[in-house]
Amino acid sequence: MTFENLNIIEPLCRALKQKGYTSPSPIQEKSIPYILQGKDVFGCAQTGTGKTAAFALPILQLFHAKQLIRKSFGIKALILAPTRELAIQIGQSFSDYGKNLNIKHTVIFGGVSQHHQIKALDSGIDVLIATPGRLLDLMNQGIIKLHTVEFFVLDEVDRMLDMGFIRDIQRIITKLPPKRQTVFFSATVPPEIRKLADGLLQNPVAVQVATISAPAEAVKQSVYYVEKQDKKDLLKFVLEKEKIDHALVFTRTKHGADKLVKDLVKVGIKAEAIHGNKSQNARQRALEGFKNRTVRLLIATDIASRGIDVDKLSHVINYELPEVAETYIHRIGRTGRAGAGGTAISFCASEEKAYFKDILKLLGNKMDVMEGPAFNNPRKAEAERPERRSFNRPAKKPDSGTAANKNPAGGSKRFPPRRKFSS
Ligand code: AMP
Repeated sequence: MTFENLNIIEPLCRALKQKGYTSPSPIQEKSIPYILQGKDVFGCAQTGTGKTAAFALPILQLFHAKQLIRKSFGIKALILAPTRELAIQIGQSFSDYGKNLNIKHTVIFGGVSQHHQIKALDSGIDVLIATPGRLLDLMNQGIIKLHTVEFFVLDEVDRMLDMGFIRDIQRIITKLPPKRQTVFFSATVPPEIRKLADGLLQNPVAVQVATISAPAEAVKQSVYYVEKQDKKDLLKFVLEKEKIDHALVFTRTKHGADKLVKDLVKVGIKAEAIHGNKSQNARQRALEGFKNRTVRLLIATDIASRGIDVDKLSHVINYELPEVAETYIHRIGRTGRAGAGGTAISFCASEEKAYFKDILKLLGNKMDVMEGPAFNNPRKAEAERPERRSFNRPAKKPDSGTAANKNPAGGSKRFPPRRKFSS
């Protein structure tokens, strides 16, 4: 299958070739024909599947065709995304794919001055990519009007709901013309998303590429069982053992991300944190540093990580496991993007065992258990308590150590005590 087979016009195909896309991804193959026919689409696809191009290409193509017939003013397509990073990423995709067309777009998001965004809007745009908060703000100021919108995209809807944007979205929807085409993408479809979709879409075509329980096949997954206080040492051990020179590392909290960066920097590992408390500039700087490889580890919280798009990310490390199993799938979707192989390594402490059990259940109970060093730390006495012993140091030597459900304790081989990570 080629983009030409999907009836994508020549200027777009040319841009795609320059991006190195040789064939459409499954979500593109399944959605593009329907969107080009003018149908509403309900897409269930996780990040990394190529869903941005699945809606961006038909939007560019449809508006290019219309532009040839008439020139109208006002915003014609509105794309709502949950985070600034994702919005910027979508904007970049429109620039890349639409480079040979004359469709104007701009991106607006909060946390920065609205001045430049208003200037861009004033110059007249066809496609607006926005986060809900800033969009509403500019709508309330009378700067943005949505009555000309013909095409509406809600991207990563589950994340938008997680982030508490439901009211904002509902307010925005009331200002859209009822006669429009709507595309809706969500990685998961809990009942409230189904309800929202039912109210928004008209006779939608449902398109699904991989269920949330089927993460990218190309991702090699493994887990280390480790006590919380030993995770820093384990991270250093894993970086050396696997020769990892570039990885995205997840923590559950912003505070955890900052603390880890401090500890890493102390031992000479270049790391930056990306999370909601960082200014937009700081986030972009961190992301740029990571992309150009001056930053070795990018430490991210889940919400901030959405929209981080780094080509061929080889490693994702779950330094802390997520509370919600689906989030694990989102995280590991950052590696092995668009078919490239990748590795996801998780650190599971005693208090995270329940989260890990949920993840295994979602995955179908399969993950390699890795052996880490036996850490020599002051809390060893506590770790020797009977219930800890059964978790960290199995009485019986395990047979193969490849299935976590069979052998949650991992291996028993001892490594020499390692130097403490930070003083
Ligand atoms: P997305 O799911 O839209 O965030 O896209 C994930 C990644 O896949 C991005 O880096 C895209 O540039 C890339 N990508 C999207 N479509 C294709 C394709 N047909 N061939 C190769 N890479 C693609």
